[in-house]
Amino acid sequence: MYVRLASPLQRDSIVDGEGLRTVIWFQGCAHNCFGCHNPSTHDFESGFLQDIEELKKQLKKSCYQDGVTLSGGDPFFQLDAATEIARFCQSIGLSVWAYTGYTFEQLMILAKKNKKIIELLENIDVLVDGRFDITKKTLNYKFRGSKNQRIIDVKKSLKQEKPVIITKYDQNEPYITYQKEKHMYI
Ligand code: SF4
Repeated sequence: MYVRLASPLQRDSIVDGEGLRTVIWFQGCAHNCFGCHNPSTHDFESGFLQDIEELKKQLKKSCYQDGVTLSGGDPFFQLDAATEIARFCQSIGLSVWAYTGYTFEQLMILAKKNKKIIELLENIDVLVDGRFDITKKTLNYKFRGSKNQRIIDVKKSLKQEKPVIITKYDQNEPYITYQKEKHMYI
């Protein structure tokens, strides 16, 4: 099986989830958020095809890291590949975070017609959900670019059938604020 990636594995990230993480940058996203930081990851034909078995060998070398983050792009546009990768990461003891432009509620609606969404969620520990909204842009929220995005405990959310927010990440650090009128951070 192959996965379409935007770039090679990125190790040692401290901004894409808790701890020291390896980031997998998926290629392809249809959310088209205004002000997206990664517009080059939108095209579903760009990037490159990566053999997942080869990727697993690279991920094994990430065992000293705290976990893996599926980002992009949006991993929910490559459900089979993302599930295979997430399942493997968990099997070697790596926690799995994932970013998506969908909200948890939207995923639950889509999952009624596509059970593969649930399969992927079952292999994710933490989901950062929702589109990037430039009107809610902030640099003060941990691991998120805009205030509407939430950090969700996926296992609890699936059990309770509603998003369960991990509140410890809501203790944000107010060191910079975005002044919308001036289009700048102060
Ligand atoms: S979901 Fe993420 S990658 Fe996709 S357009 Fe929005 S910000 Fe960009």
